[in-house]
Amino acid sequence: MEIIEFKNFGAYYGEKKVVNNVTFPVYINKITAIIGPSGCGKSTLLRSINRINDEIPGFKVEGSLLIDGKDVYKDVDDLTVLRKKVGMVFQRPVPFPMSIYENIAFGLKIHGVKDKSKINKIVEKTLKEAALWDEVKHELDKNAYSLSGGQQQRLCIARSLAIEPEVLLLDEPTSALDPIATQRIESLLERLSEKYTIVIVTHNIAQAIRISDYIAFMFKGELIEFGETSEVVRNPKNKLTEEYLNGKI
Ligand code: ATP
Ligand code: MG
Repeated sequence: MEIIEFKNFGAYYGEKKVVNNVTFPVYINKITAIIGPSGCGKSTLLRSINRINDEIPGFKVEGSLLIDGKDVYKDVDDLTVLRKKVGMVFQRPVPFPMSIYENIAFGLKIHGVKDKSKINKIVEKTLKEAALWDEVKHELDKNAYSLSGGQQQRLCIARSLAIEPEVLLLDEPTSALDPIATQRIESLLERLSEKYTIVIVTHNIAQAIRISDYIAFMFKGELIEFGETSEVVRNPKNKLTEEYLNGKI
């Protein structure tokens, strides 16, 4: 079943149209990878889902983008509610300049969780979920910047999970990480997809093939192909998809 639907969705920065007539579903508890060459509109699509691009002057959209059947741009006016439902993890890990513990507690406090013992429980639960607990459980008071890049990224994932989103958006979450840290994040995401719906933007075709259930291939602002990853890889319907998968474009 789909949780998100792009329907004839388009996006502009000022007069420049960068996403055109995109239609595809995002299925619940699956990993959907948005792939395509640089500048094709992947991040714009992703950042439209939680309306984080609203902050860019001149950004506008057309068509519709539904979450649970509600149009994110027309029927949702409380962005805090939207962003509680849809968490986001960025390319470079961006922990807050505070302790590991506070990185998670801070977001919870913003969302109204004040009870200390409840916060402690959530910190432990989400660090476990993000496969970081064993490494940091004795040093929760240490500054988050003392962690390695891969640990910082897992902390950022834990921070997103703490507010119990339904959807997790990740924009190139491993491109700043080494292969071992990347592998850990990939297996983490596969595990998390049992409980969360995941949309990941990646340049890394091999990564998309390894972890995604569905692929949306974008090219110059258009959706060229959408389908089950195994199908798209085995039997691409469009020549451009085939060329991209073979590293020719
Ligand atoms: P990359 O793989 O390099 O991250 P992308 O597929 O994520 O690329 P987007 O960042 O969505 O692509 O950009 C799509 C188009 O929109 C590009 O032409 C880009 O120059 C333009 N664009 C992106 N952000 C802005 C912005 N803040 N203001 C103006 N134009 C923008
Ligand atoms: Mg991008």
